[in-house]
Amino acid sequence: MSTTRDYPGLLTNITEDILHICIPIPHVLRNVNLYLFLGKEPALIDAGPGHPLLEQVVREALRCAGVRRLSYLYLTHSHIDHFGLAQGIRRFTGAAVAAHRAEAPRIERVNRTLPREYSCYASLSGALGFPEEMSRRIFAQARRWTEFSEPCSLDVKLRGGEKLPAGDRQLEAVHTPGHTAGHLCYYEAEDKLLFSGDHLMRSITPNPELYCPPRRGRVTGLPQFIASLKLLESYDIERAFPGHGQPIRRVRKRIEFNLLHHHRRLEHTEKAVRAGCCTVWEVAIRLFPQIRGKPPEIDHFLALKEALGHLLILEEQGRVRRKEERGMWLYTPA
Ligand SMILES: [Zn+2]
Ligand SMILES: [Zn+2]
Repeated sequence: MSTTRDYPGLLTNITEDILHICIPIPHVLRNVNLYLFLGKEPALIDAGPGHPLLEQVVREALRCAGVRRLSYLYLTHSHIDHFGLAQGIRRFTGAAVAAHRAEAPRIERVNRTLPREYSCYASLSGALGFPEEMSRRIFAQARRWTEFSEPCSLDVKLRGGEKLPAGDRQLEAVHTPGHTAGHLCYYEAEDKLLFSGDHLMRSITPNPELYCPPRRGRVTGLPQFIASLKLLESYDIERAFPGHGQPIRRVRKRIEFNLLHHHRRLEHTEKAVRAGCCTVWEVAIRLFPQIRGKPPEIDHFLALKEALGHLLILEEQGRVRRKEERGMWLYTPA
């Protein structure tokens, strides 16, 4: 058995029996974090994106940790950077793959679900004032993303609240919807560790899901995301280990910061409407001026989702009004 010293930075100890595997990705987020639990029931949290090179990286990390078989692979959510390699990992470790049941459509049938979702987003573009050329170019990329994932049937469909074996420890699945409908954090009560996926990160705030078609009458995951942050306040968390970036030591402070961040963004969104921005896209550009004039890329869609989420909350709170004119949503101050 090798040691974690063989690959500094790839494999590091969090505790004696929990290892962090750092997977590099060619994206502004720079890496995806996987967490390996050693012991009776070896388990891994998250898989990383599906790519043969990255599969080699995970294989090598497991080899260095002395792990050949995994009992479980626990997924935080159905984004390709977290589940893309799940099927590959199951093939070479025998792991049972677990995720929240609401994430099953993307994980199990990504090749069909993602293009369907992207064409649903494209069909909303007119209502949101999203320029047609931009919409066409961004939403034509579903196939490009599916190249980094392989469909993976779930062996265990979770609801949240389950107690799950991981190494010699126990994890609680904590349902934290918002970033996706079935996002899960995993809580280890003994050392008060939270594996927080994309729900809670150290230096960025995640983007809310756009439910297309609407889910239980909701178009945006933002209200759920805020409620999920408040839910975490009821947990005693010493350190949080996110899906990207560095661990979080002052967890309560980070949760408070994120709540404040959304509170402020609501205010900025309301100001944008008062200043005369009336479509969702106009508000998005006002909130994120850095995307103005850039070639179409996923950031434009992320800005759109963010603006839409905040506008819908303001509308619910009676702070802005929405009317529809020739299929386009137009916002005015209340
Ligand atoms: Zn994500
Ligand atoms: Zn992610």
